[in-house]
Amino acid sequence: MNLSQAIVAGDETAQRRAIAKGITLLESTRADHRAQADALLTELLPHAGRSFRLGISGVPGVGKSTFIEALGLFLIAQGHRVAVLAIDPSSSVSGGSILGDKTRMEHLSVHPQAYIRPSPASGTLGGVAAKTREAMLVCEAAGYDIVIVETVGVGQSETAVAGMTDMFVLLQLPNAGDDLQAIKKGVMELADLVVINKADIDPDAAMRAQAQITSAMRILGQHGRAEHAHHDETLWHAQVLQLSALKAEGLDRFWAAVSRFRHLQEAGGRIAARRRQQSLAWMWERIESGLKQAFRQHPQVQALLPQLTREVEKGGIAASTAARQLLAAMLEPRP
Ligand code: GDP
Repeated sequence: MNLSQAIVAGDETAQRRAIAKGITLLESTRADHRAQADALLTELLPHAGRSFRLGISGVPGVGKSTFIEALGLFLIAQGHRVAVLAIDPSSSVSGGSILGDKTRMEHLSVHPQAYIRPSPASGTLGGVAAKTREAMLVCEAAGYDIVIVETVGVGQSETAVAGMTDMFVLLQLPNAGDDLQAIKKGVMELADLVVINKADIDPDAAMRAQAQITSAMRILGQHGRAEHAHHDETLWHAQVLQLSALKAEGLDRFWAAVSRFRHLQEAGGRIAARRRQQSLAWMWERIESGLKQAFRQHPQVQALLPQLTREVEKGGIAASTAARQLLAAMLEPRP
């Protein structure tokens, strides 16, 4: 059995090992690994795509891991296989991690029907997101039918997760102010569903938050939210639920809402359309990032850059002129 066969059809132990090996290969930056990784992706692609992709975000402490652990176990009890991936935006800055520690999701992480993979450790956010997207394809090829992609709320990483999932869920705390932050960052607009967690602590506060966020979402809806949302606003208005991840209360209502959303979206072929559009957007995102990198590494660009940078700083040359000269150095190299 080669690696892709072991990922698709290996027995439990062999498959788990093959998935880890496959994802490690995808995350490698070595050129020869990249070529092998691309070959692996091409082999896996016909087996991928048959899962439901659920994005989950929220600020640190909102209860993401508690929620995902409870939800994962709930779904496994219904016969699903659940993969959990993460995009940790801090890793691209500090090399550290807010999401990756091993003690999270202690029951789910040892469950044979679950696969949990922490965020790729380093790289730009775009690079980390691209690797997570590829890891998602590996998990799908291995037959995980629910893939959860988790991220911490810092704006850009949420856009990345919303851009690779079928449904984007925002977790909120039951206090006002928190929701205003999300509205300010434009994250609320990405949400297909908002979940107010920790409703057990103060049910009244949770009710108030639910009413507040519901009306905030309605106002966003009236102000062109539909342009940003990736669902069809004529079919689905983003809903607001409250639950307790800690007590595993409200998971059935949550999953009923997810299933309704999925059914509505699938019925009109919208999930397929959303995925097609996401794939093309990723292709262009990766092209742009590749071009930028090639530009910075180009010898003639490197030779010109320091001087032109100084000239632009001094006001000796227009920024746009400098940019044109640098681009020409890459695109029309003189012998
Ligand atoms: P994360 O940083 O978003 O992953 O948050 P965690 O899942 O680590 O949760 C942060 C803290 O909130 C932990 O102490 C949890 O036990 C607690 N917590 C999470 N969900 C709930 C809940 O529904 N009710 C209560 N009372 N506490 C919760």
